[in-house]
Amino acid sequence: MTRVLRTPADLAGAGLIDAERIPELEAVAARYAVAVTPAVAALIDPADPADPIARQFLPDAAELDTRPEELGDPIGDEAHSPVPGIVHRYPDRVLLKLTHLCATYCRFCFRRETVGPGSSQPLDGEALDAAFAYIESRPQIWEVILTGGDPLVLSPRRLKAAMARLAAIGHVKTVRLHTRLPAVDPDAITPELVDALRCEGTAVYVALHANHPRELTPEARAACARLIDAGLPMVSQTVLLKGVNDDVETLGALMRAFVETRIKPYYLHHGDLAPGTSHLRTTIAEGQALMRALRGRWSGLCQPTYVLDIPGGHGKVPVGPGYLQDGEVKDPNGARHAYPPEA
Ligand code: SF4
Repeated sequence: MTRVLRTPADLAGAGLIDAERIPELEAVAARYAVAVTPAVAALIDPADPADPIARQFLPDAAELDTRPEELGDPIGDEAHSPVPGIVHRYPDRVLLKLTHLCATYCRFCFRRETVGPGSSQPLDGEALDAAFAYIESRPQIWEVILTGGDPLVLSPRRLKAAMARLAAIGHVKTVRLHTRLPAVDPDAITPELVDALRCEGTAVYVALHANHPRELTPEARAACARLIDAGLPMVSQTVLLKGVNDDVETLGALMRAFVETRIKPYYLHHGDLAPGTSHLRTTIAEGQALMRALRGRWSGLCQPTYVLDIPGGHGKVPVGPGYLQDGEVKDPNGARHAYPPEA
């Protein structure tokens, strides 16, 4: 298969879903964008009804079940958006959303109401100028995070122009790009794209979003190596997802796959309260138990920080587990020890 699958009929034609599911999934696709790249389609085992790659990318009728606690803007981007395309939540950094498009659309996306074809307009012309002017006029902005959408779906020419504008702002010392592209479309990480991201005098980090070790294929690892070898350090982002990575073997294997690819595990996100995603969310207690198990069994390099974006735009915080309580510290196996030890 060589083309991106964008409709339930496409998915049925590729043998990824049964044709009788097309009508119910049309209703999902009308609400939330669908796209499955050839690389992702090749990873899905259609014979496995619980396939963890399918759970992330194939639409499901459960997405039409919106719970009262779910929010269209679960992490409160809107409340912190002074001009279109900018989210300024913390003093030293801003998000810059250059595009609302992605190569694939994740069924749990926290921006699912705003990403995809037919949603908001790309940042261009005067709006783009206003976003850069906002950054230029605020010397406290040390880091710019390109997100979206997936910024790496932009053409190398547009990316290079954006990177050059950011590099020209003296107080912007760091640019971070959040992307799924090296895993979901490794061939798109071309020498031209890599070259567009290199920025003299500015540290450029690439944060790879991947949720299951099978996503780190040899091709995906090679795409990451092209970025890292060009001087672009990488960190990871993972969303904790029920039926995808909510067991310690899978989560640990994913973290090891990142480290083997020279990607430092950075964040494990608790699933946001995005609409129609309750079937994919765990509890925080389950996430903490997984983190405890990870800490007890796997290398320190394999430890991400488990974080929650507080609904309403109140920021991202680590949610544990905690190891200190009432003058005691818990070891990785859960046993308690006085600290300092009694003399
Ligand atoms: S790549 Fe990111 S922005 Fe795009 S659909 Fe997935 S989670 Fe949402």
